[in-house]
Amino acid sequence: MHTRIVSVPDEKSIADAAKLLENGGLVAFPTETVYGLGGNGLDAASAAKIYSAKGRPSDNPLILHLSSAEEAEKYAYTCPTYYKLAMAFMPGPLTVILKKKPIVPLCTTGGLETVAVRVPAHSVARALLAHCDFPVAAPSANISGRPSPTRLEHVIEDMAGKVDMILGGGECEIGVESTIVSIDGEHLTLLRPGAITPEMLAPFCASVCLDPSLERPLTKGETPLAPGMKYKHYAPRADVILLQGSEEEVLSFMKAEYQKQGVGILCSEKQKQSLGGENVMSYGAELCDEARTLFACLREFDHREDVRIIYAPQPRRDGIGLAVYNRLAKAAGFTVKNVKEQ
Ligand code: AMP
Ligand code: MG
Repeated sequence: MHTRIVSVPDEKSIADAAKLLENGGLVAFPTETVYGLGGNGLDAASAAKIYSAKGRPSDNPLILHLSSAEEAEKYAYTCPTYYKLAMAFMPGPLTVILKKKPIVPLCTTGGLETVAVRVPAHSVARALLAHCDFPVAAPSANISGRPSPTRLEHVIEDMAGKVDMILGGGECEIGVESTIVSIDGEHLTLLRPGAITPEMLAPFCASVCLDPSLERPLTKGETPLAPGMKYKHYAPRADVILLQGSEEEVLSFMKAEYQKQGVGILCSEKQKQSLGGENVMSYGAELCDEARTLFACLREFDHREDVRIIYAPQPRRDGIGLAVYNRLAKAAGFTVKNVKEQ
């Protein structure tokens, strides 16, 4: 399939993209979280094409992208808590799970009676949605299991030849996928951590609890509340191992390891400066830098074929750090090495 790539979309190319979606085609586009792979969310055939382009299991539901919070009325049963969250965080990186209306095909929701809705904030995504009179179902635009794409070149790497069009929009500002919550009256459950943190959600509800699968591996037979979280995710080709210990212990472990054959290190800018070395990669100085560059770093390690093992200090879990920890822990299959001196 020929894929039209537009690095800097204008009104005309965005109108073309909307037409392609309307006719059952697939268009990858930027959002503030990661790049999405869009199709018509009311069309079962488009959903099937998305699953096939990503190589994604079809029980893994898609998020409907809308141009406004009110548009959710057409596709789902809303509630007062939904509107409290919408007033505070939409447009933005928050996805809410609601009971679906019959117009949404089960193909889009992976067979569930609920549907995920989000109103993205990125200007290209908003311009595209403004042209569509249907919701755009869009999972991340990566091959299933690979790190999510945060730059145009990542989308081209995974999706060229598999979709009708790719729209560019620079590096994604946030870099990790949206926060997902489900609502029970005034109570929220966090199904996937993201840039909207539990601390930020708390003033708009009675309580926020975390799906336990966010911080530990699933036990046999257990299923997470967000079906996608059960799959191996975000993984580079090399094995990832998280390092647990004090700052000094972790640094001295990395000092002993980083020059060894096959070893890569993913750490903070400060740690990188005291190590140096070809396969030592920094993902930034602040938590938000780590979120923005995490997936690009994991993809970069894939281009370094000699790297077979990646050590990364275990991230902090406050603020957006919980999202970084969750993605990295999943990339590592929750493998943690305690580097405390015996
Ligand atoms: P992605 O589109 O790649 O960001 O993945 C979307 C994720 O949202 C899925 O993998 C699910 O984990 C979650 N999700 C979407 N719809 C639902 C739903 N109806 N109920 C629970 N989780 C959902
Ligand atoms: Mg994804």
